[in-house]
Amino acid sequence: MAIALCPGSFDPVTNGHVDIIERTARHFDEVIVAVIRNPQKSQSLFTLEERQEMLREVCGHLSNIRIEYFKGLLVDFAAEHGADAIVKGLRAVSDFDYELQMAQMNQRLSGIDTFFISTSPQYSFLSSSLVREVARFGGDVSSMVPALVAKRLEERFGRAGEPR
Ligand code: ADP
Repeated sequence: MAIALCPGSFDPVTNGHVDIIERTARHFDEVIVAVIRNPQKSQSLFTLEERQEMLREVCGHLSNIRIEYFKGLLVDFAAEHGADAIVKGLRAVSDFDYELQMAQMNQRLSGIDTFFISTSPQYSFLSSSLVREVARFGGDVSSMVPALVAKRLEERFGRAGEPR
């Protein structure tokens, strides 16, 4: 049984993430989506629990997905959970340098390979940090994130167009 590991901060999960997770789920028997437990808690918009809960809801239609969290080294988590490969999404060349370095480091540390899936073009500009920024200032992100995430952002920052 081939198990893939999709790590990320998912703060919050976007349509770009969901696309990568769905496509990974087609190629592997099981996918573990692992949310980074950020030690600098104050830096994330949503708590670890909120991020996991949103992922569970938006991935509810996929039967071979598990949502977990990890702290420490990703390769240790991968070994503990029997993951065969790490799968990451690549948006643009700007992602490439860092991702290549990480993939090579993880390969050196434990022998685990990283597979890259190219982003669907309609999501290539999307990042959680940009979504947070747009939502914070009242921009409409409803076409960029699942409906329940848009709702959570709205609860946090107020509705698009409303004075704040
Ligand atoms: P972000 O960079 O948006 O904060 P994460 O750190 O949660 O995202 O990233 C988790 C994984 O999802 C990474 O492999 C990242 O490259 C990938 N990813 C994020 N957004 C997209 C997107 N729009 N298209 C494809 N992959 C993406």
